[in-house]
Amino acid sequence: MPFLDLPERVREVRERIDAAVARGGRGQAVTIVAVTKTHGPDALQAAWDAGLQDIGENKVQEAVRKMDAVRQPFRWHLIGHLQRNKVKHLDRFHLLHSLDRNELTEAVAASAAKNSTTIDALVQMNVAGEETKGGFTPQQLLREAGRFAAVKGIRIRGVMTMAPFDADERMLRRVFAGARNARELLQEAGNHDATELSMGMSGDYEIAVEEGATCVRLGTVLFGAREK
Ligand SMILES: *Cc1c(COP(=O)(O)O)cnc(C)c1O
Repeated sequence: MPFLDLPERVREVRERIDAAVARGGRGQAVTIVAVTKTHGPDALQAAWDAGLQDIGENKVQEAVRKMDAVRQPFRWHLIGHLQRNKVKHLDRFHLLHSLDRNELTEAVAASAAKNSTTIDALVQMNVAGEETKGGFTPQQLLREAGRFAAVKGIRIRGVMTMAPFDADERMLRRVFAGARNARELLQEAGNHDATELSMGMSGDYEIAVEEGATCVRLGTVLFGAREK
């Protein structure tokens, strides 16, 4: 039986999150999104047994394959870059974390209109303006925040960000605070449901929670190192 120690790991992570909420002083509730990318259905079974109901995948095809393979009513989160021609799968997801460009917003809105649905999504922020990452820079968001409030078929639920790979603590706090400011900007522009802050991965989730994360995306700390 793999992932035998998952309940213990979850318990420790929850304790660390609670302590970080207390240090941060914001009193927010924090959802753990269990990132199962590259792992098989056994990881999902273990997650469910350990009380984790939110699953994060970064690739649509891999996520859909797993959705079809499991019985448990997980909430599925798409956390990776989404190609326009795959937006039709979004109705199977609870939340899109990676609304990272206007072109995607348009494609999601068109798909939602076609299916008469509403898609919940987070605006992905590229706070540090890294060339290699998608998402809106703070300057770009200033221009686009109103557009998100006006778009039909997408409900903006908040902001997602990823810190630079090699960020030190000061940089982490700067990036996470930048995402928090972006959420405020969205709210001020009329995105009244923008309450979520998806930030923090295995290496930086405690600082993210101190800075206000309402959702942490955790893979390695729960399931161990990935092979690829
Ligand atoms: C893989 C991934 C994670 C989880 O990373 P870990 O460091 O293993 O916790 C979180 N967010 C995104 C967008 C990812 O692609």
